[in-house]
Amino acid sequence: MDNIKDTIQSLRDELREHNYNYYVLDNPTISDYDFDIKLKELQTLETAHPEFYDANSPTLRVGGEVTKNFNTVVHEHRMYSLDNSYSLEDLQDWETRIKKLVDGDISYTCELKYDGASISLTYENGSLVRAVTRGDGFQGDEVTANIKTIKSVPLQLKGAYPQKFDIRGEIVLPFDGFIKMNEERIVNGEEPYKNPRNTASGSLKLQDSAEVAKRPLDCLLYNLTGTKLGVQNQFESLEKARQMGFKVPNEAQLCYSIEDVFQFINHWDKARHHLPYETDGVVVKVNSLLQQEELGYTAKAPRWAMAYKFKAEQVTTKLNSITYQVGRTGAITPVANLEPVELAGTIVKRASLHNADQIEKLDIRINDVVFVEKGGEIIPKIIAVDLSQRPLDSIPTQYITQCPECNTVLERLEGEAKHFCPNYNGCNPQVIGRIQHYISRKAMDIEGLGGETVALLVNEGLITNYADLYTLTKEQVMPLERMAKKSAENLVNGIEASKQIPFERVLFAIGIRFVGETVAKKLAKQYKSIEALSKASIEDLEKVDEIGIKIAESVVAFFTSEANVNSIQCLKDYGVQLEVSAEKLANQTNKLEGKSFVVSGVFTHVSRTELKKLIEDNGGKNVSSISSKTDYVVAGDKMGPSKKEKAEKLNIPLISEANFLNMLL
Ligand code: AMP
Ligand code: ZN
Repeated sequence: MDNIKDTIQSLRDELREHNYNYYVLDNPTISDYDFDIKLKELQTLETAHPEFYDANSPTLRVGGEVTKNFNTVVHEHRMYSLDNSYSLEDLQDWETRIKKLVDGDISYTCELKYDGASISLTYENGSLVRAVTRGDGFQGDEVTANIKTIKSVPLQLKGAYPQKFDIRGEIVLPFDGFIKMNEERIVNGEEPYKNPRNTASGSLKLQDSAEVAKRPLDCLLYNLTGTKLGVQNQFESLEKARQMGFKVPNEAQLCYSIEDVFQFINHWDKARHHLPYETDGVVVKVNSLLQQEELGYTAKAPRWAMAYKFKAEQVTTKLNSITYQVGRTGAITPVANLEPVELAGTIVKRASLHNADQIEKLDIRINDVVFVEKGGEIIPKIIAVDLSQRPLDSIPTQYITQCPECNTVLERLEGEAKHFCPNYNGCNPQVIGRIQHYISRKAMDIEGLGGETVALLVNEGLITNYADLYTLTKEQVMPLERMAKKSAENLVNGIEASKQIPFERVLFAIGIRFVGETVAKKLAKQYKSIEALSKASIEDLEKVDEIGIKIAESVVAFFTSEANVNSIQCLKDYGVQLEVSAEKLANQTNKLEGKSFVVSGVFTHVSRTELKKLIEDNGGKNVSSISSKTDYVVAGDKMGPSKKEKAEKLNIPLISEANFLNMLL
């Protein structure tokens, strides 16, 4: 037994170190593959030995815990705001003020001001015990389960650390992760997120921590808080935090005079555009903790710190033309083509104009000189027109009335901002976009076929919808650009293999508007075949859990299109999975029909995930928190005491894992 405990312990230590190397130092020393093998090994041991459970095990990074209502927690030390300054003169005035309040020279730590959501982490004896949002500064929401999924947040500290302390920092979403997330959303037919900051702060309050785990969030720390920290100044405390394993950016600099501070600001005003995450200013902090104490706080902010806000960079340039893009769903986006100009370190040639209203609001016209700005958003924005420079012969912009790709008259539905092209089956970008979605990774995941080849196939007239993919032969695709015998074979084999993809993913792949991955799963489970789904009425559909009127209408509309019905019939003839497989059906029963379950704790014979799957496969429903409507609580080891209390209070039967498994016999 001791042996197993030791193995578990050393695996945890090892994985922790790899996480640190990868996420904090950005310097992995092991392949992702080997890491996964070790993680699996640990998972297996932990499942077999729930007695060695540890809330801070690296296996718990994937999330899974669901929080319905976030607890309010009072901050032991208040989380202050910062005073802002917008010019170097403001900063000079600030120095003059504080010099009257303290003795001796003042040096400063300059840090970048990360633009995300602030967070306070509490550690006791080296373990993360709590993560709380700033809230109103006096109290915030406890979001520990979500924060634990962020891999750069240490669950267990290294080296020497104070027995108990708080550390403050910022949860950010780096640009590349943000862009990737948006690409996926677009593939799913969802509206992309506006900017990294709002997405980061929204992530903290997601109820399902497994969702948070999927987001590439990062946590940058900048302030140790508490007593007996063993440091004399801010700069040292950053180093100390680094040694404990926290991710503390290296850009911070110790400045011995306000002139040095100015230099730091001037440097980063430009250089910040090359950082992987957003920053909106510099925070200047009096370095000495003794001087900080002397200076104290105003009602809202420390006197010893001052934020300097960067100006959003703005340039003027000329609008050369407006073009109109057609998306996969037929939505039209007007794009401003600009005279290339440098802005915030990149050359800007285009900016989105969003929709007809935006064009009208700006009254923007060809040949206008426009102000372009890069603020929190990644895509540059046109702020206004410089009317003083408008040519005398300029004419107001007329929004297009016909599709630029297929000439169909555009429509604009009530309540929607965008025009769209209704030529669902004959408009090339829509046709191509739909097939690209069909083959994408989360849909049919067709190996050997990429988005560009799809466009080529459509443009060459070889296919007009996704069902046509299954008619392609090697001989047909070989003559295409950049195709060789081998790649043509791979393509055809990849398409053939997609016939094994389970129904729920096919349902996602066929591109019914508003039917994303999760909705597709729900519908597949409820209707079990495309046949049954195609016959469902709006009223039927709305009765399905979590299916609203918007989705219901869209599903019905999909099956009223003859072209769609034909494509589906072809898919069926070619052997694509259009119903839940017999094997899957065999494992499904209605034994738990109408019953709702809360699963809590750690189990011996099946994992939590398996248990939840069993509930669903047998017609039951998983809910995350106990209410009077809950039928059973399946209680494992280490079930939370508050859950237990609640179940007892509401008289909800607590059943063991064995009781539960018996219900299925
Ligand atoms: P404000 O929200 O404008 O009052 O600015 C205060 C916020 O700036 C803090 O609550 C932090 O979330 C954030 N911040 C970002 N970077 C830093 C930093 N290096 N030091 C202190 N605060 C920072
Ligand atoms: Zn069109």
